Amino acid sequence: MQKTYYVAIIGGGFSGLILADVLSSAIGAEKVLLIEKNDRVGKKILATGNGRGNVTNLSVGEENYHSVNGANVGEIINKYGNKSIIGYFNGLGVAVSDEEGKVFPSSFQANSVLDALRQKLDYLKTDIKVGEGVTLVEKNGKGFKITTQSGEYFAQKVVFACGGKAGKQYGTDGSAYSLLKPFGHTVTKLYPSLVQVKTDVQKIKGLKGIKQRATVTAISNGEKIKSFTGDLLFTDFGVSGNAIFNLTAYFPVEKSVTLSIAFLPDKSWGELSEFIASKFKNMPFVNGEDVLTGIINKQVGKAIVKECQGLTYDEKGAKKLASLIKDFRLEVKGTLGFDYAQVTKGGIPFNQVSPRDMQSVKVKDLYIVGEMLDVDGDCGGYNLQWAYSSAMTAADGVINDYENR
Ligand SMILES: Cc1cc2nc3c(=O)[nH]c(=O)nc-3n(C[C@H](O)[C@H](O)[C@H](O)COP(=O)(O)OP(=O)(O)OC[C@H]3O[C@@H](n4cnc5c(N)ncnc54)[C@H](O)[C@@H]3O)c2cc1C
Repeated sequence: MQKTYYVAIIGGGFSGLILADVLSSAIGAEKVLLIEKNDRVGKKILATGNGRGNVTNLSVGEENYHSVNGANVGEIINKYGNKSIIGYFNGLGVAVSDEEGKVFPSSFQANSVLDALRQKLDYLKTDIKVGEGVTLVEKNGKGFKITTQSGEYFAQKVVFACGGKAGKQYGTDGSAYSLLKPFGHTVTKLYPSLVQVKTDVQKIKGLKGIKQRATVTAISNGEKIKSFTGDLLFTDFGVSGNAIFNLTAYFPVEKSVTLSIAFLPDKSWGELSEFIASKFKNMPFVNGEDVLTGIINKQVGKAIVKECQGLTYDEKGAKKLASLIKDFRLEVKGTLGFDYAQVTKGGIPFNQVSPRDMQSVKVKDLYIVGEMLDVDGDCGGYNLQWAYSSAMTAADGVINDYENR
């Protein structure tokens, strides 16, 4: 007769590893099974924060989270917020440091996060199966039968911690959502978020590789959606950089978006138009595509001048140029897609789980955590924070049921 675990966790990513630790510590490792389809756990963790592991942020609130169908994550984020995750990792021997609010392991190496989790699970002797993708989960009496490519497992409870569709090279290609469909769960339309943006490229020809500090605003149907100040990197397909990454979390779905780029964030429109007007007046020998040289990056200046219809070398022309420096428009044509995105917008609708314990409202003893749900966070540590907060909430539910069984 095959063993029945108390709980099986599907997905050895950030939330699955944390759950495996917390549950093994609370109810005994022999009752916990973790199944991961990659040949090792936590592959994506190593890539987070450009290999530095941005686990949370000094400022975390429900305003940092988004969804397609609506999700109220305030209670969960408040209960298991940044202090909680920092305390958790400190408890695993990982000190943390911050850079402009982003919290990293003090080593600034994402592998510290994974090493700490793996060491703890090794010590606890939690049963971990790697290289086994789950292909089917079925109700089996009061529990579940879990079928993988190479075996069958039984558990009284099952937690889905399979991530979303972003970054298939880390094991998350979106195929795991279908495991939940037989249980009556649905999936919203999915969109890549925290991702590079494709724009019309004609206006930015020749700017590839140039990085500028700018305030970038997303505009949709004439309405300003959100602005971020930070790096803007021109590419051959459009724009990238942290200002853009941040902004994509706020792109309205299925609507056209235009970017308004305000270069030179330290200078106002008035200062610029006055400066350019006096340049025109005092330096009549300066004209043509180089008039903005010395004011802004030379190539960017040329692109702006090219954009300026009927430029006259007077006060009027100076105002026109200042307006373009402060409101250079690029139409969004799409994104680089899921392979390049850090997170998935959309997923299992949040109202299909109880926010009290992340248990499915459709099937008892089935839990869903992390990116699989229709919750996506801002850039800056918010997605690992969500994976942690939802995992801790599910752990509470599982432990409570175990104690009251
Ligand atoms: C390049 C990159 C950088 C990022 N940087 C940051 C950052 O610095 N800070 C931040 O907060 N967020 C970051 N993110 C986002 C963050 O990593 C994810 O949101 C988070 O890891 C989601 O956690 P999760 O546990 O829900 O899923 P994941 O960590 O994605 O784990 C899911 C796991 O489930 C496994 N799995 C899937 N299907 C099956 C199956 N059928 N059977 C068995 N196993 C399965 C997968 O192989 C995977 O290991 C980054 C993402 C990427 C791609």
